[in-house]
Amino acid sequence: MSTYRSRARIALASAQSELASNEDHRLKYAALELRMAIEAVTYDRASAYKSEFPPKEYETWQPKKVMAVLLEIDPTADSDSTISFGIESSPGEKPEVMHNLGKEVVFNIKAIRRHYDALGSFLHVPSIKQTLSESTPSPEIVRKRCEEVSRDLDKVLASQVFNSTLGIFSSFDCGECNARIRKRIPRDKNEVIADCFRCMASYAIRRTLDGRFEVDARTEEIPCPNPGCGHPKPIYPREFSQGVHWVCNKCGGRNEFQLGILHQPAG
Ligand SMILES: [Zn+2]
Ligand SMILES: [Zn+2]
Repeated sequence: MSTYRSRARIALASAQSELASNEDHRLKYAALELRMAIEAVTYDRASAYKSEFPPKEYETWQPKKVMAVLLEIDPTADSDSTISFGIESSPGEKPEVMHNLGKEVVFNIKAIRRHYDALGSFLHVPSIKQTLSESTPSPEIVRKRCEEVSRDLDKVLASQVFNSTLGIFSSFDCGECNARIRKRIPRDKNEVIADCFRCMASYAIRRTLDGRFEVDARTEEIPCPNPGCGHPKPIYPREFSQGVHWVCNKCGGRNEFQLGILHQPAG
């Protein structure tokens, strides 16, 4: 079991014991534990996509942002699913018997949006505005919300299968730094962009007519601006930014990208 999944279980158990105390002043601790459980199940989900996810990013992000990136990688990342398999009597034919492996329930982005900030708002002293307008939530409201989230998390953590991500992948080694690049190819797409997580390299993966994949570096050749040199240098799209430079292999000069303004006279 992943560390995040067991952390989620511990946080959920603590939240449930705070709720069971029936003491209103302990509701905030329940809200805090539930928030941590939501974070843990979301990071757990992200860990299933680890090789497709920029590593620096999922270590520091909020659940909403993590889930948004997951959905970019795989539009079904936050959907519940049932996994079953069967043997086709002949290729392409629907199997007569399907074996069910189980159902996975995911704490989806809608639930994160609905509950995560709301739980957070229970952790702070009410603002002056809330106090003046007497809009601070009553203990009953806080308890109801906490109980709802707790029930949903119970279902997520009770899933018999979890972190299933099925898809077609293309993987290859980065031509610049040798890091392994792994990219999911959605069924309805014939071309996807894959950026290297370690360096600035970027590739286009294209589906060929016979169903294989072809990988091309997305470089553009920029001629050295030194008059009389013009030696081309392949540049990746992510390198086109202020201050990035290269040393020309032919004339040895240094070329740097600078922000500029190009004026065109009226007319
Ligand atoms: Zn690379
Ligand atoms: Zn040059």
